[in-house]
Amino acid sequence: MNDTSSSSHLAVMFVGGLDDCKYTIEILDKLGFPSALDVAEKMGQQYANRGYYIVTMPEENAEQAKRLMEQKIREDLEINNSPEEFENKCPACGAELSADHTECPDCGLNFG
Ligand SMILES: [Zn+2]
Repeated sequence: MNDTSSSSHLAVMFVGGLDDCKYTIEILDKLGFPSALDVAEKMGQQYANRGYYIVTMPEENAEQAKRLMEQKIREDLEINNSPEEFENKCPACGAELSADHTECPDCGLNFG
């Protein structure tokens, strides 16, 4: 017998808090994949009472969607975390630094 699941061929794309699930759904939507929000409890009792949610979508597109989604998230992170900005500011106090500083002239944090 091959009937291991009672669900109708849905792949779980994400498990977590509601905001993160909404973010996942938004990305999938932008990529052109319709997905659905559900309570994680349906996946098993270990998720009960935790306030977790799941994002599901049809299994046949799931692998492609996951790949595209990871790519999209990586791109978003790169755009938001431009490394150049970090290099020119002290991580502790935010003071402007020039490239040859080994410690912050403002708060004395050592970068060596
Ligand atoms: Zn500093």
